Amino acid sequence: MKNSPLKIDLHVHTCYSEDATTTLKEVVHYAKKNGLDGVAITDHKTLQGALKLVKRNQLTIIPGLEIETQRGHILALNIKTLIPPKLSITETVQKIHEAGGIAVVAHPTVVLKTGLGQKIKSNLNLDAVEVINSSAFPFFLSTHWSCRLAKRLNLPQTAGSDAHHATEIGAAYTLVDADSNSDDVAEAIRKGAITPCGKPITWARRVERGAFYLTRIRRRRYSSKFSI
Ligand SMILES: [Zn+2]
Ligand SMILES: [Zn+2]
Repeated sequence: MKNSPLKIDLHVHTCYSEDATTTLKEVVHYAKKNGLDGVAITDHKTLQGALKLVKRNQLTIIPGLEIETQRGHILALNIKTLIPPKLSITETVQKIHEAGGIAVVAHPTVVLKTGLGQKIKSNLNLDAVEVINSSAFPFFLSTHWSCRLAKRLNLPQTAGSDAHHATEIGAAYTLVDADSNSDDVAEAIRKGAITPCGKPITWARRVERGAFYLTRIRRRRYSSKFSI
């Protein structure tokens, strides 16, 4: 085992996701620049970017997904097979475990994101709760609520940036007492050998994000209007 814990951002999107711009090259560049030992790639509906990056093997890469369940988002970490969206929480967690991964509740209490909320039952077999999400709003309040939820469920606490742009990578990260392979990292998270750390993304980035999404919505409307 390493003497010092690994510093891993457990929630990063790439341009393979439907809502992010970061190339795989940028993931590696900014992860190194911001002092990380690794990242979990948690794109929506695709493992393509994550699995490509695993092959490049420059950092500890945890292949994962951010899955939309019927109630909110769950991060599947350390998986190599796709898991369909829109299933119940129970079915989603079962499929994540069958795929050899762990199920982490994503941003459960954040306004304007699809979280599972604070009333999650304790019998759902979940493995951890993301208590720090740099994109969360309101950041400090949602962090407080998420920590309270994790304590009630008696689950380990993770942190991730939820980066949709390269410069956001590493704004939050989880210190993990593990060797640098993804199986060990997943096991350390499950056992709670982790510490969440991080801060919110800047207001300037939030404004840029808003502009990016508005442009995308306009483009989609325009293209659907004129497509046959
Ligand atoms: Zn989400
Ligand atoms: Zn996300």
